[in-house]
Amino acid sequence: MEKLDIKSMTMDVLKKEISLLKLPKFRAMQVFRWLQRGVTHFDEMTDLSKETRAQLEKHYWIPSVKVVQKRTSKDGTVKFLFRLFDGEYVEAVLMRYHYGISICISTQVGCKMNCSFCATGKSGFSRDLLPSEMLGQIQAAQAEEAVRVSNIVLMGMGEPLDNYENVLRFLELVSHPDGMNIGMRHISLSTCGIVDKIYALAEKSRQTSRKWLKAYAQRAYGRALCVLWQDRGTLSHTLPGACLGCRLGRVRTIATGNLPRPWTAQ
Ligand code: SF4
Repeated sequence: MEKLDIKSMTMDVLKKEISLLKLPKFRAMQVFRWLQRGVTHFDEMTDLSKETRAQLEKHYWIPSVKVVQKRTSKDGTVKFLFRLFDGEYVEAVLMRYHYGISICISTQVGCKMNCSFCATGKSGFSRDLLPSEMLGQIQAAQAEEAVRVSNIVLMGMGEPLDNYENVLRFLELVSHPDGMNIGMRHISLSTCGIVDKIYALAEKSRQTSRKWLKAYAQRAYGRALCVLWQDRGTLSHTLPGACLGCRLGRVRTIATGNLPRPWTAQ
């Protein structure tokens, strides 16, 4: 029987799993809180009985994210190299600002997009990161530096919207009040312009009454860093998608080319 990644489970999914194991309902919240605190093994869940921990161990696993290297600059910015459970590596950068601690995390091992200016794009693509591995980068960096992260940027290795479902799951987990509780207004998503996924997000935002998704959508679209992505999408497709269903925030280009006037408005 294949073990499931328990740390990538939302509270709703975890509740179902706990009921399948015929454990009391309140165990779901206990387990969820331990995972969001960054435990790496079921034995660390000290308010669960030995039998319960063994039961969890039998059915689930917790993917590891280990710091293997870190470099600190004079201003306190720290660049981390993490090793994942299968020996793959990803990077994250922790930055100290007067308003709090920000972290830029990876969403994929490598990237398929091959943007001309980017080293990650040149290294090819290995695999998508699990939601738990996105969380794990933040937890490992927090533990290493003894800080609490207040802002997240999805702008490390990988294209977040190319790992759409896992990124959505990560956003739900990291913003959960019983987890890290980082509000969507403190999370920015950078995309090179995956047009259909930008539209999908806009559609989700319109359909759902869930506040977090609306807030997320506003932030994500408004702050998309749009790149002229030849042959696959252009600014003329990307920007209307970015504006759909939400106000236009700051849109910046990191490629050559000027935006027409209306798009540069705040
Ligand atoms: S999408 Fe981002 S990570 Fe991927 S190649 Fe482009 S700039 Fe690099």
